[in-house]
Amino acid sequence: MDNKIIIAIDGHSSCGKGTLAKNLAKELGYLFIDSGAMYRAVTLYLLRNNIPLEEVAEDPALLGNIKITFVYDAEKSFYETYLNGENVEKEIRSMEVSRRVSPVSAIRTVRLFLVAQQQNIGANRGVVMDGRDIGTVVFPDAELKIFMTASAEIRAKRRYEELQKKGIHVNYQEVLHNIRERDHIDSTRDESPLAKAEDAITLDNSAMSKDVQARLALQWARGVIKSLAHQ
Ligand code: C5P
Repeated sequence: MDNKIIIAIDGHSSCGKGTLAKNLAKELGYLFIDSGAMYRAVTLYLLRNNIPLEEVAEDPALLGNIKITFVYDAEKSFYETYLNGENVEKEIRSMEVSRRVSPVSAIRTVRLFLVAQQQNIGANRGVVMDGRDIGTVVFPDAELKIFMTASAEIRAKRRYEELQKKGIHVNYQEVLHNIRERDHIDSTRDESPLAKAEDAITLDNSAMSKDVQARLALQWARGVIKSLAHQ
């Protein structure tokens, strides 16, 4: 019996959603989709082509030439983001894109464009997707929804260390400021604000190791899959 499910992982910026989602996808043999990378890729495209946000809001056709794909790099055990065939993984994580991405994500035409693609990817289930509106808007019928959070300072420290490791040199205060600002814009925007779905499980990982989170989430996922098999 095919009881593949959709796992929606939402939450604040930089609280380890991607790491948890990636791990779950690997354990279950599911597809992992980083929806934030899609918003970042659109932001990069608009920046590179000097397209003003007001114009995108008026004319969704301006997004028509954007093709976003994910390619799995087995050596790095990592999905890399491609924009129109170009690997943009490093560029979309830059502070420049991080500063611009939340205003771009607040535009209705951008959300409609990406949500349709995300729903398409999940049409056959067997997907773990992380973002801000996955459990509320993209897949309100996801069988497992996890809402992750942690204090802003802890998230900034983790993000700072991750960027350092990738060779992207930034200042800790700048990272903290960016996280707070994105939290604010993401939670207060009119279009699909960041919110916990009523049926989501909250996971505050401020004082939890990655391994403990991974084990817990896998246990939840296996529990849901098993209960569906018995229905
Ligand atoms: O997940 P990440 O922090 O890389 O996402 C970058 C930005 O993309 C977020 O701050 C948010 O503005 C936007 N986003 C969104 N909806 C999603 C995923 C990301 O609005 N589903």
